[in-house]
Amino acid sequence: MTKLTFERPIIQRINAGLPSKYGMAHKLEPVSHIDGVSIKSLLESYGSPLVIISESTIRKTYKTAHRAFSSRYPKVQFAWSYKTNYLNAVCNVFHQEGAWAEVVSGFEYEKAIANGVPGDLIVFNGPDKSREDLSKAIKNGSLIHIDHFDELYEIISLSKESVLRPKVAIRVNMNTGIYPQWDRFGFNYENGEAWDALNRIMASKQLDLVGLHTHIGTYIMTTEAYKVAATKLADLAVRIEKKFGQALQYLDLGGGFASKNTLRGAYYPGTDTAPSFDDFAEAITSALMSSEIKPDHLPLLILETGRAMIDDAGYLAGTVIANKRLADGRRATIIDAGVNLLFTAFWYEHDIRPVEPVSEQSEDTTIYGPLCMNIDVIRGNIMFPLLKKGDHYVIRRVGAYNNTQWLQFINMRPNVVLLDGKGKPHLIRKAETLETINSQEITPDHLAKFDL
Ligand SMILES: *Cc1c(COP(=O)(O)O)cnc(C)c1O
Repeated sequence: MTKLTFERPIIQRINAGLPSKYGMAHKLEPVSHIDGVSIKSLLESYGSPLVIISESTIRKTYKTAHRAFSSRYPKVQFAWSYKTNYLNAVCNVFHQEGAWAEVVSGFEYEKAIANGVPGDLIVFNGPDKSREDLSKAIKNGSLIHIDHFDELYEIISLSKESVLRPKVAIRVNMNTGIYPQWDRFGFNYENGEAWDALNRIMASKQLDLVGLHTHIGTYIMTTEAYKVAATKLADLAVRIEKKFGQALQYLDLGGGFASKNTLRGAYYPGTDTAPSFDDFAEAITSALMSSEIKPDHLPLLILETGRAMIDDAGYLAGTVIANKRLADGRRATIIDAGVNLLFTAFWYEHDIRPVEPVSEQSEDTTIYGPLCMNIDVIRGNIMFPLLKKGDHYVIRRVGAYNNTQWLQFINMRPNVVLLDGKGKPHLIRKAETLETINSQEITPDHLAKFDL
């Protein structure tokens, strides 16, 4: 047996950045500017953390979405989903682009009216519309999307008190192959409830049935589901026309398109998996065009796209507070924005970047927010470079749902700035102060003082 040649042992650092089943590790490129504006300078002027919204990204996304549908279908109308982001400046960018308002509460309805949206261009969705809300909506000629029979009977009863004919549609829920099925809103298609509701509306002779609505879920990654939804709505429209000789004015396919964010635990990044507006438009419009609806009666197609329309336009920037080692040796980086500002951190693996240049070295890191609460985790596990105390970060694609679901909790909510088309920052929501919070509170006289 020949003797093996001796090889000198070496110690080599394990490079965790080697290809894994997820592919090549990539260096997290810093993002220093938004629309040509330095993030660092914005933080210096407006404080940290800071929500930054790009007006030009909103407009660009809107135009892309609108073109995808209007190039395939003759009559298209978007309605801005207020609950996705109802900062007034944001809503008004959409309204300037031509979007109507889509609201799901009396509060949002008031917000749209206050923004100047004509009442007859408001789509009123949601399970909770009070009698007062409904009577206002009837007076304004808004499009009331009925959620349940109790609401239908309330509208019929209101219509007896006035000469105005309420303009109504029903929300339809259905099996589109998306599970769990969203069957808690509206009337079910498969069990005949939707058809029943439509017949009752027609029989009442007091309501104007103008359309049909569905909103099949959110962050839907398959266009096929929309094909099914559009086909089922078209089927109902055809049955109404056959039975009552009335063509509906519109079909509203709701929202739900996936944005480019990556879901927690997803294998591929959202930028690779989210269908494009063109894909969604192709599925929906081909289903409508090939339905039994007569070509000269094609209804207006309404879309209530929320997250896919605004996610890319929103950024959350801020400052690193500290670094530390956890018990298992893993690095923890603590930043000044917590889950109370970034609700979507619970289901997205948000794209967080350094603002300043960083070293090539990355390390398994947990990124925590500043809250004194264990669940305040912005990223549970990310290969991240070392950002030191005082360095800056920016989290991308946070435009949807965060400015509506954020909480004043432990800390106050920060400034929000909008960068206009020329890159000029505008403060569109002021940071809260102790006075903001205290102005809502009343301390009884006997609790006004204490001796310690
Ligand atoms: C929330 C909501 C939308 C917007 O949904 P996205 O998933 O953000 O596109 C549209 N329509 C209705 C009725 C909604 O409740």
